[in-house]
Amino acid sequence: MAGAFLDELRALLGQPQVLVGVDCEPHERDWRGRFRGRALAVARPGDTEEVASVVRLCAARGVPIVAQGGNTGLVGGSVPDDSGTWLVLDTRRLRRVRNVDADNLTMTVEAGCVLQAVQEAAAAQGLLFPLGLASDGSCTIGGNLATNAGGTQVLRYGNARELCLGIEVVTATGEIWDGLSGLRKDNTGYDLRDLFIGSEGTLGIITAATLRLFPAPATRFTALAACDGAEAAVGLLRLARSRLDAELTAFELMGRHALSLVARHFPEWPQPFPEAAFAVLLEASAATSEGARERFEAMLGQAIGDGLVGDAVVASSHAQSRELWRLREAIPLAQAREGLNIKHDIALPVSAIPGFLRDMEASLPALAPGLRPVVFGHLGDGNLHFNLQAPEGVDAAGFLRQHEAALNRHVHDAVMARGGSFSAEHGIGALKAAELATRKSPVAFGLMRVLKQALDPQGLLNPGRVLVTDPGVPETPTPPL
Ligand code: FAD
Ligand code: ZN
Repeated sequence: MAGAFLDELRALLGQPQVLVGVDCEPHERDWRGRFRGRALAVARPGDTEEVASVVRLCAARGVPIVAQGGNTGLVGGSVPDDSGTWLVLDTRRLRRVRNVDADNLTMTVEAGCVLQAVQEAAAAQGLLFPLGLASDGSCTIGGNLATNAGGTQVLRYGNARELCLGIEVVTATGEIWDGLSGLRKDNTGYDLRDLFIGSEGTLGIITAATLRLFPAPATRFTALAACDGAEAAVGLLRLARSRLDAELTAFELMGRHALSLVARHFPEWPQPFPEAAFAVLLEASAATSEGARERFEAMLGQAIGDGLVGDAVVASSHAQSRELWRLREAIPLAQAREGLNIKHDIALPVSAIPGFLRDMEASLPALAPGLRPVVFGHLGDGNLHFNLQAPEGVDAAGFLRQHEAALNRHVHDAVMARGGSFSAEHGIGALKAAELATRKSPVAFGLMRVLKQALDPQGLLNPGRVLVTDPGVPETPTPPL
């Protein structure tokens, strides 16, 4: 049966666009090295029609499909399970920029376009596509929409959902829905676009999107500020918002331990405040340069005067600004080099963050002595990456096997008790599907299952991801490698 299916697939796409055996390996492992599956094959369609024909073939033969873009997802949703029966649908040959409409401030791109290429295509027209992630050289716009990615500019421009006006989708039965509207107002019934955004490949395959663009700011300032606690960082955020309003485009928090991992794995990069409890990376941008730098520096001056900031550096060149951003972007890479870790991608009301961090600092050592919390993230959005690194010198895989479930429960209970979310921007994937089944309200979870059943009645699109197949028996996450 598998052989006949592969022959049919080759007939649709051509032999070179169907990978089997060892050629599938890079598509079978996730970026973090926590999930490894086995694919029946990898299909590489080149346009929307080919995606639709592959999906129709899979629907006819009952073959599950996992869509894969840059495979940078952090929750194990982009790789097949270990049954060897799933098809990986690699979208990266869908990489045309179909249109840039400077008057409408929109661009229409195919799902496999790498995020950085989308940013560059907008910049070539003097425009800005503001989604920005540390993975932007590899992740795709289809993956960004499928996970409703966040990143570092959400504070000012919103997340992927807010940056998308229309999408084109191949449904689970292989129909093509052309929803590529560039309209900002369109109240004609249920919002199907928003249903597919954030659905992580479980409801349809996104093949193209119409994205919102913005005028490129004329000027941009970056600063690094040293704060001696989370309260001070939150105070700085309040001050920066009130003094800069919409000019504040990024407000990123980096804990001392997170930066010490960067120092260990990238020792050649200078760190202005290695001793500070927290360093905050602030960015402001403005449509005209008039008075903008003065406003930015005056705000920082006040923050120092008010005792919120011990010291601060303002980048004096683009190169210096890149150096500061590099420190922030290197944290996930430094963590990966340090070894397997437990990631918590949490959202909280900003006002609840200092109390949450105090609570964790006091309670975690009793659960796992020597644990190293690596705290960083998008404080301006109330989104922290509260990651836990195994104690120094301990076998990380064994440590995770022993402690991960209890630590997740402890951290997420504290988050939920404060009205937060246990997945702010990375999604649910395979890693958190069992937890979603227990933490989502039964009404909301029931509605999600109804939608899944309606849109993917055969259950072939990324099965068991986001929604466990049987909520009575939550699947346990794949153990760490
Ligand atoms: P993949 O990993 O290939 O897929 C992710 C999910 O989307 C899977 O469930 C997959 O099935 C589905 N999918 C992919 N393409 C499609 C499609 N065309 N149609 C339907 N479903 C599809 N995320 C953030 O939100 N903010 C960050 O700041 C951030 N920083 C990161 C930094 C690093 C160093 C790394 C490695 C990752 C980071 N991420 C971040 C996570 C990741 O980059 C994002 O989730 C990204 O949006 C995934 O895009 P991708 O193309 O790699 O998708
Ligand atoms: Zn993030």
